[in-house]
Amino acid sequence: MSRPLFSSSVAGSLPKPDWLAETNKLWPKWQSEGEALAQRKADATLLWIKAQEDAGLDVIGDGEQSRQHFVHGFLEQVDGIDFDNKVRMGIRNNRYDAMVPQVVDAIRLRGRAHEAEARLLRAHTSRKTKFALPGPMTIVDTVADNYYGDRKKLAMAFAELLNQEALALEADGIDIIQFDEPAFNVYMADAADWGVAALERAAQGLTCTTAVHICYGYGIQANIDWKSTLGDEWRQYETVFPALARSSIDQVSLECVNSHVPAHLMGLLEGKDVMVGVIDVASETIESAEEVADTIGRALQHVPKERLLACTNCGMAPMQREVALKKVQALAEGVALARQRLA
Ligand code: ZN
Repeated sequence: MSRPLFSSSVAGSLPKPDWLAETNKLWPKWQSEGEALAQRKADATLLWIKAQEDAGLDVIGDGEQSRQHFVHGFLEQVDGIDFDNKVRMGIRNNRYDAMVPQVVDAIRLRGRAHEAEARLLRAHTSRKTKFALPGPMTIVDTVADNYYGDRKKLAMAFAELLNQEALALEADGIDIIQFDEPAFNVYMADAADWGVAALERAAQGLTCTTAVHICYGYGIQANIDWKSTLGDEWRQYETVFPALARSSIDQVSLECVNSHVPAHLMGLLEGKDVMVGVIDVASETIESAEEVADTIGRALQHVPKERLLACTNCGMAPMQREVALKKVQALAEGVALARQRLA
């Protein structure tokens, strides 16, 4: 394998500059529109590509600067969805309320969802690239369905559309396509029952590397409160990891540092690359290189060296820009130290 040891990347999103969108928000309002907005999205994407490269990350992403939210960015290109009449809905098993668009008709992709940012990314880095899409089950949990009447059926319908976009992203030159499935940690039995099958449908026919990111959510208060109810041992991964180990997906991204996930659950992912979260996105404290290298060291008790990739616990969209930048740098510095230690 030609990739570097503990190959590093961020989970997906990075904070948007204040001239692009409102800051510190999950569903920020854009600061401009039309051509001007498209230009600012591209400018912000280029800034984050450079920042990730300068920090020394091995795999570069677009920081999701072009989408308002990690789910709704994709949905904006889907016909059959009413964005004009959003409704308030409890999502992630009522963990928090969101204003969500409604499925009102058979869904169909209107055109490319992420061509501009994927091509921009490919054109401006020679390193490996990763691009994230929402997973089918998480999409189903972030829209109000007034048409399909069945979560599994709707997930499979979204999986087909995701597959179209994923194949196009691969053709754009993206090296790793990641599906974000935080809902897998909320509906564990459904995830194992049909969530993984929907995920595989979304990844069908891809020859690039495929990944799934499963987390306990952004570092927002609703999630911090929820985590405090989960007890001393978070065993959510235990149900879905065996199903993922049997699946065609290549890589699994999980929360590790500062979480209560028993580390040995990583051992359930035999045969998979494991993207270990070594950067906490729910804390503004910047990890030291030693702390990052120590987390990698502990994970190595459960994941073979050549299978361990270093990542953040989740996306960093709602964080302070300066904090996220320092965490990106801490990730790269910690990986460099871990390589030295194991050399
Ligand atoms: Zn996440």
